[in-house]
Amino acid sequence: MEFEAVIGLEVHAQLLTNSKAFCSCTTKFGSAPNSNTCPICLGMPGSLPVLNSKALDYTVLMALACNCRINEVSRFARKNYYYPDLPKNYQISQYELPVAEHGWLDVDLVSGTKRIGITRIHMEEDAGKLIHDEKKSVSYVDLNRTGVPLIEIVSEPDMRTAEEAAAYLRSLRSILVYLGICDGNMEEGSFRCDANVSIRPRGRQALGTKTELKNMNSFKNVQKGLEYEIERHTEILTDGGTIVQETRLFDPSSGSTVSMRSKEQAHDYRYFPDPDLLPLKVEPELVEKMKKAMPELPRAKRDRFIKDFGIPEYDASVLTAERPLAQFFEDTVAIFANPKAVSNWIMTEFMRAAKGQDSGLISSPVNPANLAKLLGMIEDGTISGKIGKTVFEEMWGTGKAPDDIVREKGLVQVSDVSELTKVIAKILADNPKEVSRYLAGKTQLLAFFVGQTMRATRGKANPQLVNEILTVELDKLKN
Ligand code: ADP
Ligand code: MG
Ligand code: ZN
Repeated sequence: MEFEAVIGLEVHAQLLTNSKAFCSCTTKFGSAPNSNTCPICLGMPGSLPVLNSKALDYTVLMALACNCRINEVSRFARKNYYYPDLPKNYQISQYELPVAEHGWLDVDLVSGTKRIGITRIHMEEDAGKLIHDEKKSVSYVDLNRTGVPLIEIVSEPDMRTAEEAAAYLRSLRSILVYLGICDGNMEEGSFRCDANVSIRPRGRQALGTKTELKNMNSFKNVQKGLEYEIERHTEILTDGGTIVQETRLFDPSSGSTVSMRSKEQAHDYRYFPDPDLLPLKVEPELVEKMKKAMPELPRAKRDRFIKDFGIPEYDASVLTAERPLAQFFEDTVAIFANPKAVSNWIMTEFMRAAKGQDSGLISSPVNPANLAKLLGMIEDGTISGKIGKTVFEEMWGTGKAPDDIVREKGLVQVSDVSELTKVIAKILADNPKEVSRYLAGKTQLLAFFVGQTMRATRGKANPQLVNEILTVELDKLKN
């Protein structure tokens, strides 16, 4: 029997607000443990939560970007459970009435575009962090993260392969980062996902029993974990067994998953409306305000780049993956109006240099004006493309302007015909064997002479001119 996989994802994204969701404690990362706390986020009796309006702004922005219907009235609910990182013994979340529902995202796959349904987006608060010291066999509790605002984005079970799930996740992350509402850092947990998966005989409507992979923190692990689960389910069903509904953990070192808890052990969270918080109202004015604040999103930007700049789809996708990169491209093209040349340079030299620099492109030592100037100097023949790469490295290393570097280092391209002819004459005289072989028909040796000329001029010779002069001079020797 042939099976198909069914996947649905629950994504948690930490919102980039300055203060926590229901108190004024800072969300700053890296403070001394438990220093960013107050009676509200510590859950002291008598303290009352007040919603951070910025967290709501961000949630509405994401809901709009995901084409959701925004509920004018929603409710906060208490999700009750006991854990040392949760001082209140409940998490403020939303249950029956989330802030947004019925959305979708178009995701680009190798096979084309696929629309993935989004069931709901709701607001909640994060729990604290436990730090386990295995040597001393103790655990420490840090409540700085307690109460930091999160949104949970729940998808429909619309994905059919692990690659689709990874593509959907990538596009969600890209949108959140574009909106500037989440840093998207998976390793630090500001963007994490629970992956639900089941399989069913191809062609059947009813869903199979699912398992859930908790807290996946890299695209690669999500994909690998899902692939492992799909295979495991398939083997069990093929052997006539049944799938146990359970939560499992993916172990990256072994590439396999292990059971964490089964349905019987599953939590009963005893959700109920939080009596400390009023129903959450989203006024139409707020929705309008957020619509106006909506930046151009990655796919729209990509399509515009293809249309307006005439660059290939591949280039446009790479350039629009991150907003600062797209901005850099546009700023450069605004000065040097050859989009494909700019795109080539950004996708090769620029991205290679920027790799591993996590401060991002905003603080890149090369700015659009200087990149445009460099490309201009290559185009008008002041320097060769090859020298251009050397100049670029120097620009990246020093932050200097390309014309200064070219002047200081004497890198101006030699386009003087008589000067080049002299150099070439010497090279032909110095390499009589190669010359006779060339004249005997081994014309591939032209590249050798070009190379010698470039070396003699330390790369500064105009390559096109060198080719032309060489052909003429060698031709002369034929007679
Ligand atoms: P739970 O109560 O266990 O969290 P939900 O019904 O809320 O389950 O669904 C959580 C996520 O799991 C959603 O993204 C949903 O699309 C997905 N999902 C639900 N049932 C299945 C299934 N049988 N197979 C795969 N994914 C599923
Ligand atoms: Mg769940
Ligand atoms: Zn607080």
